[in-house]
Amino acid sequence: MGGEPVRVLVTGAAGRMGHEVVRAVSAEADMTVVAAVDVAAVGQDIGGITVTGDLSAALSQTRPEVMVDFTVPEAALPNIRAALAARVIPLVGTTGLGPADMEEVRRLCADHQTPALIAANFAIGAVLLMRFAAEASRYFPDVEIIEMHHEKKLDAPSGTAVRTAELIADAREAGAAKRGDAPGAFERFPGARGGAAAGEIRVHSVRLPGYIASEEVIFGGPGQRLSLRHDSIERGSSFMPGVLLAIRRARQLDGLVVGLEHLL
Ligand code: NAP
Repeated sequence: MGGEPVRVLVTGAAGRMGHEVVRAVSAEADMTVVAAVDVAAVGQDIGGITVTGDLSAALSQTRPEVMVDFTVPEAALPNIRAALAARVIPLVGTTGLGPADMEEVRRLCADHQTPALIAANFAIGAVLLMRFAAEASRYFPDVEIIEMHHEKKLDAPSGTAVRTAELIADAREAGAAKRGDAPGAFERFPGARGGAAAGEIRVHSVRLPGYIASEEVIFGGPGQRLSLRHDSIERGSSFMPGVLLAIRRARQLDGLVVGLEHLL
């Protein structure tokens, strides 16, 4: 992105992930945090920058090139709209956006001739897990996903689990999986079998202190089982290299890009 440091606006800057983004970007020589936006902690200092609650003022006054968003889905979509209208590239880690939201972002990218990235997981290990899961599903079409996160996570199932299910559904042969449970099977407690993502893949969500973000994809076949598992055990070192990569590659994006794998 030229010789000047990339100008980065962070939304959700006072949150768990946003705080890490401010810290990580501030430590790099080729990028700089020009604005920290959050509805919480307005007026407070985060890593040498004062948090503001006014995104549109921050966009027009600080002239960022990219906006890194780790907020909540209800906030992420309006934030993306505002960024694209200002021709600022949104790099979005917030999970929970649905297919209709994605379609709107795709259209807005075209309207404003500005690209965007939405990545359910910025950890390289999770991106590899999704790739390996898609590959394995061609040989093991029967699969369930267990995702485990910290107790403060708002959405369930996780964006990574939903994306993993989508990639598996796209990769495995249509109709190859055994559909549904045994005849006569029932749930003693509602939800005991988890929810179905991407049409038919069961996803089970665990929320407990002691986790950051983990996912296990279990494939069952005749006489054998295959488990793929990824654990993020620390936010800064597991997610930030992917965020920094996205900031450095932002200008090379074309339209809406979904998934960090397209930048690797
Ligand atoms: P968090 O600690 O709750 O942080 C979210 C922050 O955004 C909070 O400070 C929240 O303020 C703030 N916020 C809410 N509405 C806002 C708005 N309109 N403008 C600006 N800020 C706003 O959550 P987190 O653990 O950092 O997670 C954030 C998101 O990232 C979640 O969707 C999570 O699933 C996702 N995530 C993604 C990855 C990835 O690799 N892609 C990794 C981890 C997490 P209040 O607390 O006042 O609402």
